[in-house]
Amino acid sequence: MNHVPTLFRDPGQRGADVLLQPYWADARPAVPSFADAGRALPREADVVVVGAGLTGVEAARVLADAGRDVLIIDAGRPGDGASTRNAGQVGRNFKHSFGDLSETLGIDTAKSYFTELRAAYDSLAALGAQAGSAIGWRKCSRVIAAMSAEHLARLHVEYEKRALSLGEEVEFLDASQITQELGSPLYKGGVRIIENGAIHPGMYYEFMHDRTLAAGARVVGNTPVQAVTPEGDRFEVTTSRGRIRCRNVLIATNGYTGDEFAWFKHRLAPINSYMIATEPLPEAVWQDILPKRRTYHDNRRRAHFMTFSPDGTRLLFGGRTGSDPASLRGIAKRLHADLRYLFPALDDVRISHAWTGRCAATRDLFPHVGVNPAGLHYALGYCFSGNAMGPYLARKAAALILGNRDEAHTLFDSARFPVVPAPARSRWMMPLMMGYYAWADRPKGLARAI
Ligand SMILES: Cc1cc2nc3c(=O)[nH]c(=O)nc-3n(C[C@H](O)[C@H](O)[C@H](O)COP(=O)(O)OP(=O)(O)OC[C@H]3O[C@@H](n4cnc5c(N)ncnc54)[C@H](O)[C@@H]3O)c2cc1C
Repeated sequence: MNHVPTLFRDPGQRGADVLLQPYWADARPAVPSFADAGRALPREADVVVVGAGLTGVEAARVLADAGRDVLIIDAGRPGDGASTRNAGQVGRNFKHSFGDLSETLGIDTAKSYFTELRAAYDSLAALGAQAGSAIGWRKCSRVIAAMSAEHLARLHVEYEKRALSLGEEVEFLDASQITQELGSPLYKGGVRIIENGAIHPGMYYEFMHDRTLAAGARVVGNTPVQAVTPEGDRFEVTTSRGRIRCRNVLIATNGYTGDEFAWFKHRLAPINSYMIATEPLPEAVWQDILPKRRTYHDNRRRAHFMTFSPDGTRLLFGGRTGSDPASLRGIAKRLHADLRYLFPALDDVRISHAWTGRCAATRDLFPHVGVNPAGLHYALGYCFSGNAMGPYLARKAAALILGNRDEAHTLFDSARFPVVPAPARSRWMMPLMMGYYAWADRPKGLARAI
């Protein structure tokens, strides 16, 4: 741990002393292991990977294992994107429900998508079984809670279908059973998904990063890529510290994709989300609010989500997704108020950390992997499910670069990667849209908007 924050309690001071960085960052080495940032860049590489999050480092590992000379370049400190800012939940979900996909694409295609989600989950669960506490792995199952009878009915329909068609093991929770999971008067029931897990995003990222270095790839931080230009059968990558020629480029910039990659930027809607960490809570409080220490979220479109620190002491709570990041302190205050409203036993709780991270949604709400018309490979657009999906699709992208067609096969391979209309990508649209979702999905009779 590199910091013992001053906590705050007094409403007048709320936000004054909170540490504005991810709680997970406390577990990342204080001295970055990316010492090569000061050295000259190589002039040549087989593959340049742009973006050193989970996607970038996992693709690079596979490529390096196959004997490619790989350079990963990040604009900031490698890992400082969403990969070390998230809630650490690991499941087999994405933005489409199984029920909706079955109706629109047919049950067989829906099953195939969920088979891939399962493959992505299984692979991270296998890593968790092997690496254990080195990535903060916990197999803790997940509760999705409903805030109204209507939300509960929708949840039950979806999970009955999944249990029947996908064999997912679930437990349906009624109004009294949910109170044994969540000490809040606001939940009307829910579903517990037995096979789910959680990681510590900071430790998970460091593990994946170090494994990639051990495979022989090089990682360079604090070096924004400014342009990639095709040159015959190669590419010239222009960075803030020089140019590199390479055979392949993989774009792994997800929510942080900028104007330098316009083709990708036009296909991604960036979305900010927010989290706070509480001070360590006494065991008696845990017994009141989350006695079983699982991961949680509700089923509104602008949901709250919760997990706990691997040492079991702190609650990590997120939401207010889509809000404008201009005032992190202000949003942290609102999240703090949400938390105290949901859990009366936490009325006195203080928070130690607040942070934001950015994800990317796509127009069709599917992640996409493939090669764009200019020959750039990519894996992007996980819509808040990248802990397992990011590395999974990174391996697909790497297989595509290596020409391993069978291994590269995935339903997320994009013959079509639709543009997101410009207004939907504007800074103001996402706060408006998510604000609308919060209003439209609001449970009746709440004393305040959440
Ligand atoms: C608050 C929050 C909660 C979440 N909760 C969960 C969860 O519980 N479970 C889950 O599965 N997923 C969750 N997610 C989503 C998950 O974190 C992401 O899907 C995943 O981390 C994406 O990884 P990535 O490597 O693709 O992108 P990132 O980790 O965001 O990395 C992209 C990198 O690209 C770099 N970059 C951008 N442009 C350039 C450039 N021009 N040159 C060089 N580098 C560049 C950036 O600096 C950044 O480091 C959450 C996300 C957030 C924000």
